[in-house]
Amino acid sequence: VAKKQRNTYKLYSPMMNDVPTKELILENSMFEALESNQFMLHYQPKLEIRTGRIYGVEALLRWKHPEFGMVSPLEFIPIAEKTGFIILLGEWVLRSACRQVKQWEQMGLDSVLVSVNMSMLQFQQKDIVSSIKSIIEEAGVRPEQIELELTESIFMENPEHTLRILHELQGLGLKLSLDDFGTGYSSLSYLQNIPIHYLKLDKSFIRGIVTDIRKQMIFRSIIVIAHNLNMKVVTEGVETAEELQIIKEHNCDLLQGYLFSPPVAPERFVELFRSNKCP
Ligand code: C2E
Ligand code: CA
Ligand code: CA
Ligand code: CA
Repeated sequence: VAKKQRNTYKLYSPMMNDVPTKELILENSMFEALESNQFMLHYQPKLEIRTGRIYGVEALLRWKHPEFGMVSPLEFIPIAEKTGFIILLGEWVLRSACRQVKQWEQMGLDSVLVSVNMSMLQFQQKDIVSSIKSIIEEAGVRPEQIELELTESIFMENPEHTLRILHELQGLGLKLSLDDFGTGYSSLSYLQNIPIHYLKLDKSFIRGIVTDIRKQMIFRSIIVIAHNLNMKVVTEGVETAEELQIIKEHNCDLLQGYLFSPPVAPERFVELFRSNKCP
């Protein structure tokens, strides 16, 4: 009996690695979650600073898990990237965002630009361009209404190949934006060659800028460079009126942040858009 107990103890040790971790549960339930509509998109407005009007929206993934409630994309995207599920999920995101734009257009919300985040793994797919093209065509939206948010990580593997793909996507009429600028290895040398319409400064960039003169100098310089390269600059994570004042003074083009609105459900965005339209 003692021996058996010992064995039992070994088999069912309550140590962490014997119970399925949250990560493992999430990993194993992703496919079913997609099938049963647990994923949804929320939309965060981007504002044109000069006019105060809504310029576009960023689609941000949300997962309403039956056991864990709302799970952050910061938690499940890395898992989806590890397993390769991000390919399927990424296609779903693009398809849903395109359908949403189409629906908004039919409701009379004209010229809303919708941006979608792309993972590096999606970029490494051989048929990435034709896959994007067919999703957009199927939804019946103009490519000009869709923006892809990309990070520098797409240049890590095969920069020449990446550059070719960017040119093909631009050729289709899509808008491209370089996301998370100011984090990681952001280097101005990238900006020389890439066909990018928007430079998106990460929210870590705006944090503390109000009292940090050196940060303001760098901010100003990056905006000048981006403008000279014909790019518009988006500042992300704007939370206070003081931050807004600074980015106005420095000629930033667009802003995104809690100061105006957090990411919201599509119905709420319609309200925001309609109330924003009449000044
Ligand atoms: P990101 O692309 O940098 O998106 C901006 C994040 O900043 C979003 O977090 C947004 O809710 C948050 N944010 C916006 N304004 C403010 C603000 O004023 N203050 C603060 N503190 N935060 C603000 P979220 O929605 O949790 O998304 C986190 C990250 O998950 C995204 O960062 C993106 O990298 C990834 N992600 C989200 N959706 C997708 C997707 O569909 N595909 C892929 N590949 N990644 C996604
Ligand atoms: Ca983004
Ligand atoms: Ca960011
Ligand atoms: Ca990001």
